[in-house]
Amino acid sequence: MGQNYIAGAWRKGISEIANINPSDTSDIIGHFAQASASDLEDAIVAAKQAQIIWAQTGIEARYNALMAIGTELMARAEELGTLLAREEGKPLAEGKGEVYRAGQFFTYYAAETLRQLGENADSVRPNIEIDVRREAVGVVAIISPWNFPTATAVWKIAPALAFGNAVIWKPANLVPASAVALTEIIARQDLPAGLFNLVMGSGSEIGDALTRHSGIDAITFTGSLDVGRTIAAAAAPNLTKLQMEMGSKNPLIVMDDCDMDLAVACASGGAFGGTGQKCTASSRLIVHDKIYDEFAEKLVAAAQSIKVGHALEEGVTMGPAVSETQLHSNQKYLQIAKDDGGEVLWGGHLIDQPTTGFYMAPAVIAGLGNDATVNREEMFGPMTCLIKASSYEQALHIANDTEFGLTAGIMTSSLARANHFRRNAKTGVVMVNLPTAGTDYHVPFGGRGASSHGVREQGRAAVEFYTTVKTAYVGLPSAMPD
Ligand code: NDP
Repeated sequence: MGQNYIAGAWRKGISEIANINPSDTSDIIGHFAQASASDLEDAIVAAKQAQIIWAQTGIEARYNALMAIGTELMARAEELGTLLAREEGKPLAEGKGEVYRAGQFFTYYAAETLRQLGENADSVRPNIEIDVRREAVGVVAIISPWNFPTATAVWKIAPALAFGNAVIWKPANLVPASAVALTEIIARQDLPAGLFNLVMGSGSEIGDALTRHSGIDAITFTGSLDVGRTIAAAAAPNLTKLQMEMGSKNPLIVMDDCDMDLAVACASGGAFGGTGQKCTASSRLIVHDKIYDEFAEKLVAAAQSIKVGHALEEGVTMGPAVSETQLHSNQKYLQIAKDDGGEVLWGGHLIDQPTTGFYMAPAVIAGLGNDATVNREEMFGPMTCLIKASSYEQALHIANDTEFGLTAGIMTSSLARANHFRRNAKTGVVMVNLPTAGTDYHVPFGGRGASSHGVREQGRAAVEFYTTVKTAYVGLPSAMPD
């Protein structure tokens, strides 16, 4: 059984859950412990003590630990990517890519440990110097989702450790196997006992207890908007530092001067990659009416060419929905689209496979305005909506007409339009002639509006969340009293 890792030791929980392969529900990957409230208490007490030691540990020791974790992840990308694909349902190539990327996050932040420079200033008063430096925040709670179970967790864990913090990690209960695999690698490093803790359990129990705990100094969360709101309310009484990445409704504008084949490839990849279960998915395709019919036809052909199947099967380009709940949610949104007068141009039907899994064909929805439910709410499945626009100005207006603001893209050969869009899209990430999904690890990531709360993640921007600034005033000898 996969166990929790608390105060430097593996530990059974109060109960266990079965981890089921969404590509084959007869394949039970394993049973995984659920932490108790007292396990959580122990983890937080140990983390507090370990963090003090870690903050005083030399930066080369931190560098060595993070580098070793990153190097091992990259070396074992095939093996761990297979496990990830098996439990989450993403095709093997995507699973391997995710684990490799997780390794890159660790090596990137390993290097950042050696680049932590402060600032010095003269005081406005004579004979006083000012030293501005960053210190660790303390104990960081990390709550991660199932869709990128390794990468999302790691882009939080790596900077947390790099900048001197302790970690309590609660992964999503749908993906415990990759969480335990990652923890095994971290647990083998020379870290103070209790610096890194894995507490598995449901969000509504252990997640809730974690976010309400006064011993937590900072919470970083990726997941749904509703849960984000719950966490913000839970953290408020303690005024816990908070960073959250939540829902999205990313637009991709397709202009009449675009490269049509590139636009179709970007739209299809952005909408259906990762079974559409990406916060950066292209879920609203805003298409100029002059090319609408041709684009719609080609997009449907692209959707039809996607090979849906078992995540570990050779040649499969889209796996199943992650769970029965998610599949039902997808079907519910398709029904809402139809009830609202929309048309499913193709897809959305369930697919039989040799194994029992949550298989659904990618769907292209048309005929609805931007105010329709399917164009307002995050669906998180392989479904995308076509919206007509008669001008760039109208397309931009539609793109920005959403409560979310994570990523936005435009397909155009006009430099002027691309530049205008780059400056006027109300999102944290903008893509020009690229899919809305697919970001780098060394630059900031995050959104506006209901997509994000708090400072940016990834790249050097992560220092803002994982550290706190200290301003020290130092009186020089001549300023001292006699
Ligand atoms: P959730 O927001 O429910 O879950 C994300 C994480 O938060 C999980 O680890 C979950 O635990 C935990 N959690 C749930 N409730 C609480 C709580 N009250 N306090 C603390 N932690 C909690 O997302 P789901 O994974 O259930 O997915 C549902 C929807 O969320 C998707 O359909 C999609 O719309 C959206 N989503 C968006 C993501 C994004 O990147 N934008 C990523 C994932 C989901 P557990 O699951 O173990 O109960």
